[in-house]
Amino acid sequence: FMLELKNITKIYKSQNNSLKALDDISLNFKDKEFVSILGPSGCGKTTLLNILGGLDSYNEGSLIIDDVDTKDYKEKDWDKYRNDNVGFVFQHFNLIGHLTVLKNVEVSLTLSGYSKKERKEKAIKALEKVGLLKHINKLPKHLSGGEKQRVAIARAIINEPKIILADEPTGALDSKTSVEILNILKDISSECLVVMVTHNQELAENYSTRIIKLLDGKIISDENKENYETNNTFKIMKKHKRMPFFTALSISFKNLKTKWTRTLLTTLAGSIGIIGVALVVSVANGVTNYIEDVQRVALGNYPITISSSVKSEPSVSIYDDLEEYPVDEKINIVMGESRYEHLNVIENEFFDYLDQVDSDLYTWINYNNKITLDILCMGDKTYRKVSTSYLQEMTEDIEIVSNDYDVLKGKIPEGKEEIALVVDSYNCIGATLLYYMGIDYDRESISFDELLEEEFKLITSDEFYLKVDGRYYKKGSSYYETLYNESKVTLKIVGILRAKKNATTEPYSSTFLYTKELTDYVYDKNINSPVVKEQMEYGLTKNVFTDSPFEEYVGLNYTESAQYQYEVLLRDLGAIKQRNRVYIYTKNFSDRLLVEEHIDNYNNPNSFVRISYSDYMKRITEEFSTFVDILGKVLIIFASISLLVSSIMIGIISYISVLERIKEIGILRSIGASRTDIGRIFVAETMIVGLLSGVFGIAGAFLLSNPIGNIVKKIIQDNASVTTGLSSFRIVQFEVEHLVIILIGSILLTVVAGILPTIYASFIKPIKALKNDES
Ligand code: ADP
Ligand code: MG
Repeated sequence: FMLELKNITKIYKSQNNSLKALDDISLNFKDKEFVSILGPSGCGKTTLLNILGGLDSYNEGSLIIDDVDTKDYKEKDWDKYRNDNVGFVFQHFNLIGHLTVLKNVEVSLTLSGYSKKERKEKAIKALEKVGLLKHINKLPKHLSGGEKQRVAIARAIINEPKIILADEPTGALDSKTSVEILNILKDISSECLVVMVTHNQELAENYSTRIIKLLDGKIISDENKENYETNNTFKIMKKHKRMPFFTALSISFKNLKTKWTRTLLTTLAGSIGIIGVALVVSVANGVTNYIEDVQRVALGNYPITISSSVKSEPSVSIYDDLEEYPVDEKINIVMGESRYEHLNVIENEFFDYLDQVDSDLYTWINYNNKITLDILCMGDKTYRKVSTSYLQEMTEDIEIVSNDYDVLKGKIPEGKEEIALVVDSYNCIGATLLYYMGIDYDRESISFDELLEEEFKLITSDEFYLKVDGRYYKKGSSYYETLYNESKVTLKIVGILRAKKNATTEPYSSTFLYTKELTDYVYDKNINSPVVKEQMEYGLTKNVFTDSPFEEYVGLNYTESAQYQYEVLLRDLGAIKQRNRVYIYTKNFSDRLLVEEHIDNYNNPNSFVRISYSDYMKRITEEFSTFVDILGKVLIIFASISLLVSSIMIGIISYISVLERIKEIGILRSIGASRTDIGRIFVAETMIVGLLSGVFGIAGAFLLSNPIGNIVKKIIQDNASVTTGLSSFRIVQFEVEHLVIILIGSILLTVVAGILPTIYASFIKPIKALKNDES
């Protein structure tokens, strides 16, 4: 016996009463029979059929398939049993609405992983059997009831099952159509077991080979109409394979296509989060790049400046009537000194200390030098030596000069012969400075043009020193006219500069600036002059001016070593370059902070000399890092919220979609789809939704990138003091890797959001799912 029920009892329990739907049923089925089950409504026919089909459980007794008791059957075994051996035909057809006739018939083969070609061949054969070949591409809703039932029969027989279970297959059909269906079933029963539940005694009598009558869950008669020779060579088939994931994808895709408005809404819901994330990622990317740009440009332009300086602030009263940053082209002459910054030489101890800093931390160190210059000027027909304490070397880094100074007139000096005057913010110059430079100072102001005509003469050591009787002398003022006229280097004032309000380095003020070329020229000349050469040859053994050796000098409060006196002499001869300002360039903010930390820790042994450094960028660094912190937090919050919202939305929508498709799940389960198969279909569906959401999201992000970019720029402009190049900078920067990750993330997110509904879907019992239709 291939199919046997032994003492089956099925009890439905509800809260207050229990109902015996089947009461001690024992039946044997042979492999080729057409069995009709007759009985009034509610007598247990459907229950019996469902138990035979493995769709429902029972309380007592056993179901034996192929001599194997099914009490040990697992969920999977039931799936296989249904898929490979049982075909269901329902009263209400239970076709899947969004699939064509052909696809509806193919479905169980699809679940078993048949190839497309095989599926189609078999489906066409089955449809041919039920006479429906011309309708294969129609949707079920365009068919009549009889045609629908024939599709259902084709679906049931496609896998050549051993058992066809038909629950009132003609219940919804008129008598003429019923006869057609019965004929088809009769035909089929020549090849397999057909068990049909029906109300219709007449049809049962006419078509079936055996009639079983039920009443209140009990068999009241069981009669064979004819005698059958049955050969029980039947073996249960095990051909069930897993549904390939690609198939799940294509089923889902077709389903989504039929409900495209819904799909569109779902993907839009999902894309909100993705837009958020894509924008956040690209804004973060753009801002990071922008900050790197600013760092690169800024750190190149704004070094750490170290100087040892004395500043003088004149009594405020002399500025009382003056306005700051005047526009008229004249310089105000104030009595005495204007405000100025005097740079001292930085002691060697500091440079030794600075040498300890890791050289990887900076990209460039640059110095301003101080060298003794001998310059003559001609004022009022008299020739005078200029006081060079009002002259400073200008930094080589022209960027700093052009960034930090306005050129009020003329230009920034270039080459050894050009110098510039730097005025303070009131365009003021002290009369003292003018006096020492040999410029007429006894008036209220001097025009720019007048100043630009001033010239000075450079005198080098080879010209200034005279050897008489083996000793050197510096030429006195009687020589000045000749020296002036014979000088080879004329220094010209070519520009008038003023520090900008937000200058990035400690600005020069009330001073003349000359170039490093002049320093190098003078140094080279001096070092090769006879006086310096000779002095260096003698070293400490002889001072070429006194003709006696250097000796330690002991004064009242101090001692001067021989070496010190020797160095002072060489310095006076302009043969030593001393450094009085240091520029340190770093490549990033963190290196910069380390260098500054090092400078901060310098323990100045000479406490009345102030070593100070200025770092305009420090403020910007701090400003930027707080800004980036805040922006980062805002972006993360924004992204999280949008992700959360869209995953909740996707979750809800997939849940609704599951509810909507419960019946379809039931149909699929009844033809043998396993839980995994159902899970796969829904996972595939959420994956497609996720992919589409991702694509929409990215497209949306692209569309929004301009307005969002402008908002971010506005925020930066309102919060940062340096916004160099911001307006033309693309602040929302997409990167392919990011987009790919976002796309994958979007798929994962949607799958995760849909996972609970999917699990729910796969756990719905087949009969429950099928019943969903009736309520
Ligand atoms: P038939 O198909 O012969 O009309 P059924 O097998 O559907 O009868 O039902 C047999 C009996 O069991 C009926 O009284 C019905 O109300 C009851 N029944 C069927 N399904 C359930 C269920 N899920 N829960 C409770 N009672 C049920
Ligand atoms: Mg019924």
